[in-house]
Amino acid sequence: GNLSELFALNGKNAVVTGGAQGIGEAIVLALRDAGARVFICDINPEVGNATAERHGVEFVAADVTDSASVETAFEHVATTAGSLDVAVNNAGIVHNHPSEGLADEDWRRVMSVNLDGVFYCCRAAGRRMLQQGSGSIVNTGSMSGHISNHPQPQSAYNTAKAGVIHLTKSLAGEWADRGVRVNSVSPGYVGTEMTKRGMSNEEWRRVWVGDTPMKRVAEPREIAPAVVFLASDAGSYCTGTDLVVDGGYTVW
Ligand code: NAD
Repeated sequence: GNLSELFALNGKNAVVTGGAQGIGEAIVLALRDAGARVFICDINPEVGNATAERHGVEFVAADVTDSASVETAFEHVATTAGSLDVAVNNAGIVHNHPSEGLADEDWRRVMSVNLDGVFYCCRAAGRRMLQQGSGSIVNTGSMSGHISNHPQPQSAYNTAKAGVIHLTKSLAGEWADRGVRVNSVSPGYVGTEMTKRGMSNEEWRRVWVGDTPMKRVAEPREIAPAVVFLASDAGSYCTGTDLVVDGGYTVW
């Protein structure tokens, strides 16, 4: 068949958590351009609604740390659109603090959004996809799930991202023979709100860029096509894989 047809998502209904801005917004655009009906799911309704309107997609609010709120949002997508075919679980936060002084609540907050939240979203999507007998889940991991970043301290973030990659493999194994694929995409440094503060710190920026073989951070749009690949039939034999998109950061 036609190669571009393999990457097409016509007739598919997709949700992207953390889709209001940054990498999530670029994923929303790519899924939409591939033909999907896309719902932005985000804790921030102001930015989320504005982004949805700008790109001609829909918005549904949820806090991924609250499993009931995730269930309600994913049910909204499934019932409004008639199915849930693609779930991109991308919402995430970072907290930079030396571990010896890290407060319980800061550890918990990062784990809660970046790991508990991904599990709640996978479970909510998986339930519906298993019932349909089809679906593709793509979680946003990070190179931080493979290496520990420097010079900035972020042990909770790195740990949560390693958890996302292994959760992805665990669910992939459970659901593979029932039509549901589960994969992750692990970006290197990407220019977004999340990295703005770090990029304005001369020392951090020098290390981040200098330790990236390509000598630059990514644009959000450079991450999104990897998600389309895994979400679509182009990735039909991929499950449990982590696709690293990091400008070579992890080769050193
Ligand atoms: P961002 O801060 O620009 O966007 C994150 C989005 O997630 C925001 O719209 C925010 O409102 C939403 N969000 C936060 N908490 C939420 C919650 N509890 N429930 C629902 N939505 C919530 O960040 P980004 O750089 O676009 O990051 C997106 C994902 O990519 C994250 O998982 C991040 O860890 C990962 N990532 C980012 C980089 C990078 O360098 N920027 C690198 C690797 C991985």
